[in-house]
Amino acid sequence: MPDFITDAILLRKIEYGDHDYIISFLTESRGKISVIAKNAKKSIKRFSGALDLFSVSNIQCTFPKKNKNGLIILSGADLENGFVNIRYDVFNTAYASFWVELIHYWLEEDKVQSDLYDLLKFSLDALNEGNISKEVVSLLFQIRFMSISGFSPNIENCEICKKSLDHIEQKHIRFDFKEGRIICQNCVKIGSKYGMTISKGTLKQLFWINNNDISRADRIRFSKFAIKEGEMLLEAFIPFHIGRDFKSLQFLRRIRQER
Ligand SMILES: [Zn+2]
Repeated sequence: MPDFITDAILLRKIEYGDHDYIISFLTESRGKISVIAKNAKKSIKRFSGALDLFSVSNIQCTFPKKNKNGLIILSGADLENGFVNIRYDVFNTAYASFWVELIHYWLEEDKVQSDLYDLLKFSLDALNEGNISKEVVSLLFQIRFMSISGFSPNIENCEICKKSLDHIEQKHIRFDFKEGRIICQNCVKIGSKYGMTISKGTLKQLFWINNNDISRADRIRFSKFAIKEGEMLLEAFIPFHIGRDFKSLQFLRRIRQER
């Protein structure tokens, strides 16, 4: 009998000794957990397909009996979605890898984050189904990740004069990385040097995908320019705030350049 069963998304898998893997999952009911999958390298059948990066599985776990401080043991895993359309596409894989690396790095263990689980699951499903462009799914994931993580970037009104985005006359607005806030051109001299200038249209679209019902995300149409600007903003702002650049993000930038 397992001690608990939950749906989980695989964030990271590392080899441990000759036979085992240590795996980090983002679970639906328990937040991020680390488990040991004993003999998983040998008996591939037991976990068939369920131990691949970013796959969703129903996992069965038991607490260690002898060593109370030992790792939770993964006793079984039933694959629910292996996301084949992500796995066989290098761009899709790069995006999904970035999202799971970000969550793995940022999230503490055993802190329940069901909204983050739902966001990652929604983003992987959307990427796999392809009904929303991968670039837009990634913008949606990143802006919502920032909100859930408590960084809550304010793209609603100027940080200093409080004028709302709709009422700011200028077409270009400064986004301050340190504060995570927009600052209109009238107030910009007071702002810090960390940040970038971004067009009002892009900010409005980012605001929309952050605040509207996620199930309506397929209705938003981003122009190529807005996608590019949104990527530049979020893919710089997130590493700035977290204080780390991500390998998967570097890989994503490289393959974009090669295309
Ligand atoms: Zn202002």
